[in-house]
Amino acid sequence: MNELQISNLSYTYRNGTQALQNINLSIGNGMFGLLGPNGAGKSTLMRILATLQEPCEGELFFNGLDINKDKTEMRKVLGYLPQEFDFYPKISAWDMMDHFSVLKGITNRIERKKSIRYLLAKTNLYDVRHKKLGSFSGGMKQRFGIAQALLGKPKLVIVDEPTAGLDPEERYRFHNLLSEVGEMTIIILSTHIVDDVKELCSNMAIIDQGRVLLIDNPQNTIDQYIGKIKRRVIAKEALEDYQNRFNIVSSRLYLGEILIHAHSDEEIEGFSSINPELEDVYFLTINRNRKEENGG
Ligand code: ADP
Repeated sequence: MNELQISNLSYTYRNGTQALQNINLSIGNGMFGLLGPNGAGKSTLMRILATLQEPCEGELFFNGLDINKDKTEMRKVLGYLPQEFDFYPKISAWDMMDHFSVLKGITNRIERKKSIRYLLAKTNLYDVRHKKLGSFSGGMKQRFGIAQALLGKPKLVIVDEPTAGLDPEERYRFHNLLSEVGEMTIIILSTHIVDDVKELCSNMAIIDQGRVLLIDNPQNTIDQYIGKIKRRVIAKEALEDYQNRFNIVSSRLYLGEILIHAHSDEEIEGFSSINPELEDVYFLTINRNRKEENGG
């Protein structure tokens, strides 16, 4: 069993932006979703876990290793797929994987070949293994990024905003691959896509403005809102009035009108009760925090 322990972690950028404020998380094997809107602090946290940035305050331990101090040891057990990456465009997928494997310390040639073949097949890139990375589409590059992150059987895999840019089939394939790997390792999946967390993660944290707002199992947290989420389709012009009268969770365009979800313990006339979704929990949690930040 692997264990990642993050205690009192804070990070402030030089320009004064407080990207992380007193983060505490304890994470074991399986997939852990880090869910938050853009600017929440996810990438900052991911980069700190990947030993690329040092925290201003706090401690991070992985299986007893001090992530900040034992960086070299940490990198041996780490797989990282950054949000943005670029590989040498003139090198083939196979050769690049081979190069990364050497860096990861896989010195045995046969073992290297075996794991490269396995990962390229898993990411559906085996047939194009001799093609140059520069000729890859966005989805192929993304899959290659995943393949390289899984080299050397990492114990902690950090994946930053992975499915942006993947088509539904690629996304499905990617999910399957992560689920397979996830049983024996810790995978931290940072995303603003609620469905990715719902479909994949056994545990999650919702973060916004550098703070952890909620830590739970996705289904648990959804269950707490059973019977409390209502929906109604309204005219666009009526939205402001509804926002003033009800606790509106979300609103979106729907066939030229607006579909709203409201949170209420009681029935509301004209609304119908629906099964809560993780998205409702997500918006409620973020909205509540922002209201509190603004003084109620
Ligand atoms: P997320 O990954 O959730 O979108 P980030 O970790 O990228 O969030 O950003 C958290 C906060 O830190 C944001 O307010 C962002 O503007 C700020 N930030 C990120 N990188 C830098 C940087 N290099 N210098 C200054 N501020 C930064």
